[in-house]
Amino acid sequence: MGRARWAALLIAAAAVMAVCAPRAKPLNLVVLTLDTFRADRLGAYGSARGLTPAIDALARDGVVFETALSVAPLTLPAHTSLFTGLFPPRHGVRENAGVLPDGTGDRTLASFLARAGFQTGAFVASSVLDHSRGLARGFARYDDVEPTRDELGGLRARRSADQVVTRATHWIDSLDHARFFAWLHFYDAHAPCTPPARHVGAHALPYDAAVAFVDEQVGVFIRSLEQRGLLDRTVIVVVGDHGESLGDHGEATHGLFVYEPVLHVPLIVRAPGTGLHGRRVGGVVRGVDVMPTILQLLGVSASAAIDGESLWPLDRPAARVAYVENLYPHARFGWSAIRALRTERFKVIETARPELYDLATDPGEQHNLFDTEHALARRLLRDLHEHAGVDAIADAAALAPWTRDRLASLGYVSSGPPRLGGPLDGRDPKDMVTVFNALTSLPASHRPAASPAPVTGSEVH
Ligand SMILES: [Zn+2]
Repeated sequence: MGRARWAALLIAAAAVMAVCAPRAKPLNLVVLTLDTFRADRLGAYGSARGLTPAIDALARDGVVFETALSVAPLTLPAHTSLFTGLFPPRHGVRENAGVLPDGTGDRTLASFLARAGFQTGAFVASSVLDHSRGLARGFARYDDVEPTRDELGGLRARRSADQVVTRATHWIDSLDHARFFAWLHFYDAHAPCTPPARHVGAHALPYDAAVAFVDEQVGVFIRSLEQRGLLDRTVIVVVGDHGESLGDHGEATHGLFVYEPVLHVPLIVRAPGTGLHGRRVGGVVRGVDVMPTILQLLGVSASAAIDGESLWPLDRPAARVAYVENLYPHARFGWSAIRALRTERFKVIETARPELYDLATDPGEQHNLFDTEHALARRLLRDLHEHAGVDAIADAAALAPWTRDRLASLGYVSSGPPRLGGPLDGRDPKDMVTVFNALTSLPASHRPAASPAPVTGSEVH
């Protein structure tokens, strides 16, 4: 990232006072992360499937960010960006095998809120987010998943939404009215989807049934807050970590591509006391913007550099762009990695064979304009590299020869010695989708191992 973009963003208490009127009791915080949730499955985002009445009700009472984008189609990097406000090149968790470095660990949302006097509890549903990954820092209670052997010898490393809700509710009851931050993680929409039978019969796709089950359990949790008199004393944030392809561009699940079905996620903020009900906000919003937004709402300072920016006040004009990366194809399979820049209208994707899409006229990302829109491609790539910075997956000299030649023809890449074996070398993910689908449907023990430490469990991406 360029120095200007990495400049410190200090959340000042004075700014908070301009947003939040004084209130008798300080607000609690609940963050609900919906794993593998496509925005287009929610009524609040235009779905007519009727899967999400509980989340839609939160949306009616709060603010819907219409173009919220994941920073990476991978659970751990995406969650780490949500809870640090940093893009992956800066927090260092580039893949699900990563671990949040010590130097970043005390700059998590939970750490800031704990120092501000919050009781902090996390209730996660997948071993991809277990305590060893670094996100437990700042949480007084980190209730993660113990992998256990199933009858076939595989590792079961997830828990269902009803278990998450039950454990979180018990914890809140134990707090004796202390101010709290609760993070609930719902993993049921992540393949393989095995929702309860009452939902399976009602929906054609197991994925849709799993979304409906998660929504049902969100409703149970919201009612429990209401019964305890906490609903209007609690900021509730609903956010997806990434979506699911469901066959888009041939990808069955997620982890290979960065097309819209895996990037566009729900982001809903219900903030009592702000007078904001049923607001819809357009414009690109990134996972890194969630933490600074929360801190400003709660009136908590973060004396650390944050890449994201607070989304309040809502009427402030902003032309954000989203940096996106996916190192999974390279780290696990030795294929080319991917990085991308998404603006309000365009997306440039840098990989072995780069792509450019005009989302205004081609929302399905079917017509690659990279070879015809030279000036636009050059400008977007320059912006992408400015965001990615020198510590990102590759600099221009490390691009795949094919890509380098193409960029040189655009007048973009200057001369420099080629470095073979860089993350953008290797096979283009577009050519490997059939193999990827087959490999990711295998048990973890049969897949290529990552370095340095493979994620244990039956689902790793
Ligand atoms: Zn995920």
